Amino acid sequence: MKQIAFNKPFLTGRELEYIRQAHENMHLSGDGPFTKRCQAWLERSIGCRKALLTHSCTGALEMAAILAVTEPGDEIIMPSFTFVSTANAFVLRGAVPVFVDVREDTLNLDESKIEAAITPRTKAIVVVHYAGIACEMDAIRSLARRHGLMLIEDAAQALGSGYRGRPLGSFGELATISFHETKNLISGEGGALLMNSDELIERAEIIREKGTNRSKFFRGDVDKYTWVDIGSSFLPSDILAAFLWAQLEAAETIGAARKALWNRYHEGFADAERAGLARRPVVPREASSNAHTYYLILPDAAKRRRFIETLRREEIYAVFHYVPLHSSPAGLKYGRACGSMAVTDTMSERLVRLPLWLGLEAQQDYVIERCRRALGR
Ligand SMILES: *Cc1c(COP(=O)(O)O)cnc(C)c1O
Repeated sequence: MKQIAFNKPFLTGRELEYIRQAHENMHLSGDGPFTKRCQAWLERSIGCRKALLTHSCTGALEMAAILAVTEPGDEIIMPSFTFVSTANAFVLRGAVPVFVDVREDTLNLDESKIEAAITPRTKAIVVVHYAGIACEMDAIRSLARRHGLMLIEDAAQALGSGYRGRPLGSFGELATISFHETKNLISGEGGALLMNSDELIERAEIIREKGTNRSKFFRGDVDKYTWVDIGSSFLPSDILAAFLWAQLEAAETIGAARKALWNRYHEGFADAERAGLARRPVVPREASSNAHTYYLILPDAAKRRRFIETLRREEIYAVFHYVPLHSSPAGLKYGRACGSMAVTDTMSERLVRLPLWLGLEAQQDYVIERCRRALGR
């Protein structure tokens, strides 16, 4: 019996070669040649106006919060079914996360429940494209426009996904990406802030460079640089960007391999879904998925616990997430829920994520067979 990990980072084999190049370039701080290459790649493949690499998606969300929040008490609408950083970034700026329930099918923000959460203090809507599957961007975008709200995409999981043929990350004024080890394309820790609004670009560059106009200085737009705004150090070293470049170059190959794994799971659990033992992910017709996550929804919390335990005994590691934010200690203190959170509550108790990584191919049928058996118990 072989241990099957939940996640295994995939290396393309060129990471060290590019790190060696960065070493030879002697540009070790941020914004070197590899950073520029990665940013240009993101701008090209997503079609956003500007991309800035950051040390994490959390960092990119913090930059988004500095750009979006104008005063303490500003309200930011977001799902509760998400990673903590989505909310934390805004709380750090004194804003209040207002949690709205998610849809049953995609577990994405329920667009029909957003309007009820809008108040005169609302500043922005943050959508999270869960599992790399798009939110209902048409409805949410027109809602944001109608109410004059900033639209921010937490696209941490969604690089390579689309909605009506357009890449995610190109819809919001701002979008954030993660290159954390658990995502599709990785640099260990890493992220990017994407911008689709010209007004925000100049300020974002300043915020990322410790509140200075250093980026302008390097472009020769000003003859000295100085402290002009609040900010912090959000940029990664060019050594890390070199690692990331090897991954971006292989994006298509990695994407295709993940898609094949995802599809095999999906076919493998069709019977279980028909038998009512588990529900499979739903990909709406408008959405194209990057196969970030494969998950199943079990009938109840007790069945999920037994399912995970059964697999663990066979050394197959399946995991769950998220613990809802609206009822967490910090969520209760800093945020509030708007309306019923019934879908968030039930889904977070029943969802289980299956191993999905390049190299699993040879054992995937075994994993599927064990999962089916555990579901049938
Ligand atoms: C992974 C993730 C983050 C955080 O990304 P880091 O790069 O680890 O900071 C934020 N939001 C969502 C939805 C994520 O999945």
